[in-house]
Amino acid sequence: MGYVAGEFDVIVIGAGHAGCESALASARMGCETLLLTINLDMVAFMPCNPSIGGPAKGHVVREIDALGGEMGRNIDKTFIQMRMLNTGKGPAVHALRAQADKFSYQHLMKKTIEETPHLTLRQGMAEELIVEDGKCVGIVTKSGAEYRAKAIVVTTGTYLRGKIIMGELMYESGPNNQQPSVRLSASLKEHGLELIRFKTGTPPRVHKDTIDFSKTEIQPGDEKPKFFSHETESSDNEQLPCWLTYTSEDTHRIINDNLHRAPMFSGAIEGTGPRYCPSIEDKIVRFADKPKHQIFLEPEGKHTSEYYVQGLSTSMPEDVQLSILRSIPGLEKVEMMRTGYAIEYDAVIPTQLWPSLETKVIDGLFTAGQINGTSGYEEAAGQGIIAGINAARKVQGKEAVIIGRSQGYIGVMIDDLVTKGTNDPYRLLTSRAEYRLLLRHDNADLRLTPVGHEIGLITEERYEKFLKKKELVEQEVERLRSTKVKPEEMENVLLEAGSAPMTQGGDVLSLLRRPEVTYAMLETVVPSPYDLTEEMKEQVEIQIKYAGYIEKQLLQVERLNKMEKKKIPDDIDYGDVRGLASEAKQKLGVIRPLSIGQASRIAGVTPADISILLVYMEHYNRVTAARKSGA
Ligand SMILES: Cc1cc2nc3c(=O)[nH]c(=O)nc-3n(C[C@H](O)[C@H](O)[C@H](O)COP(=O)(O)OP(=O)(O)OC[C@H]3O[C@@H](n4cnc5c(N)ncnc54)[C@H](O)[C@@H]3O)c2cc1C
Repeated sequence: MGYVAGEFDVIVIGAGHAGCESALASARMGCETLLLTINLDMVAFMPCNPSIGGPAKGHVVREIDALGGEMGRNIDKTFIQMRMLNTGKGPAVHALRAQADKFSYQHLMKKTIEETPHLTLRQGMAEELIVEDGKCVGIVTKSGAEYRAKAIVVTTGTYLRGKIIMGELMYESGPNNQQPSVRLSASLKEHGLELIRFKTGTPPRVHKDTIDFSKTEIQPGDEKPKFFSHETESSDNEQLPCWLTYTSEDTHRIINDNLHRAPMFSGAIEGTGPRYCPSIEDKIVRFADKPKHQIFLEPEGKHTSEYYVQGLSTSMPEDVQLSILRSIPGLEKVEMMRTGYAIEYDAVIPTQLWPSLETKVIDGLFTAGQINGTSGYEEAAGQGIIAGINAARKVQGKEAVIIGRSQGYIGVMIDDLVTKGTNDPYRLLTSRAEYRLLLRHDNADLRLTPVGHEIGLITEERYEKFLKKKELVEQEVERLRSTKVKPEEMENVLLEAGSAPMTQGGDVLSLLRRPEVTYAMLETVVPSPYDLTEEMKEQVEIQIKYAGYIEKQLLQVERLNKMEKKKIPDDIDYGDVRGLASEAKQKLGVIRPLSIGQASRIAGVTPADISILLVYMEHYNRVTAARKSGA
């Protein structure tokens, strides 16, 4: 039945949040790319919350944009609400969160893909990998089409052997009753990849006209919204509010009375769920002392009456879900449009991947997104762009791009996955980043746009603009450092700021270091000769106010980089390293870390093991050098 349907440089399987970024990156780097997906009407579909961003997730979207990816631009054009969270706290945790018009988001992403040169979008179900001599060279689809390529990226999300669970009802399906991807799961296993079973869940959707908003609290967007893309300067998107309500005593009673029908407690669910995104029944059991839980009512779009009930993810039976909904203030008369459900799916154990996201067992095969054990659109897209870049670089015979833990949340996430693995769907949190003061929303371009430019994803024009911004920020910091002011000049400003008067003349920069003094205040006395945007002024303020902390973190990074630079020979036999603990031998043998830095982050590898390894490597390198010089 099979027929040869085409030859490409790169094939990407799945047009979800990971696949879209992979395919766009690979095509924009000049590779002929095929993006194959089950249903063209589900490109960049959001099966769960209609939002992008939030703590750590918002940082990733900024990083994707700084590298030249699409998610940031797409959401800036299709958001229905934008809020900067945690503005009362330090800049490391300032996080942008947008409510998306789901349908506009999908349509725009599909249009961008359709209009991208070197990119072919096709509907089809990949069922088999073609592997020759350990190298993946193509795929076969359900309709028998055979596509060949030099690199393949699998981004199949929650579809691999997908199974929907809703109370006693269980059936094979992808999200939203899409076809599941069953045979590809078997093919991945057949070619040596170990899979793990995970699950996630989503809440019901309700009809807007049946909500009594007077019993809820309005949650509006920011009047002056900020944006995810460094290219977005303004927007006239109309913003819609979200609404806050809470579970009631009745809600908790209904759930407790029906726990025997809850699949996650009856043992019907096999897969492990996300620790940081629990279902409502899980929350009621785990936090039994908590009298109420927050419930956010979020519009799914401008042209739909569907509202997403954030905080009520559940796999309870349909009838119970309706009682739960109607026990919540504001939802007493609500009509349920879609029932909540849990979905189980296969994921690849991520320690089987190199930091480039290429699999260790199959050359030329990359995986990205939920298939790697993560949860979230942003986590998926962050992996997607890296896998797409590295598939293209593999085809072009160039070195892989690996983002370091001190360069980006994308680097933290991928390093955590491939070095430590995960036992439940991995979700990014700011607490996972040891250098989070360096990984801020405001400086993603300073960290990653030079990388995006070097690999050909950032245009010359955009790069020039970036260099100009960088230069202006540096000049302004220098100007503030060298500008001296007299106490009398600053008297009023400091008085207004509630800050101590100056006792003698001094430079403006030291004044800005005072917590109560802002750049905006100083600007009234020593206005800048440069044409600075609000974003540049914010950058100047953060760089000066947090200089001490930033310097401290940069010293830590220097130490980290020393360890990262100590590369481990890829043919090392850990069984040969005398004195190494057996657990360390086993773990190092499986993970095969690229550097001493990565080795030191593997669970079960102790500092003592690292010292022994360092001594062994010194000897190993000496012997190898001697052998090479023929001594
Ligand atoms: C029910 C549910 C609840 C969720 N809840 C949360 C949550 O609470 N919090 C959170 O952060 N995230 C949640 N998510 C996860 C979030 O949706 C995903 O993290 C994100 O969509 C993953 O992106 P992805 O690109 O990896 O995969 P997906 O977005 O799932 O996209 C995969 C794509 O691959 C295609 N595909 C699959 N198999 C094949 C094949 N064999 N051939 C061709 N195409 C194929 C599919 O059609 C789809 O387009 C939830 C997801 C679901 C389904």
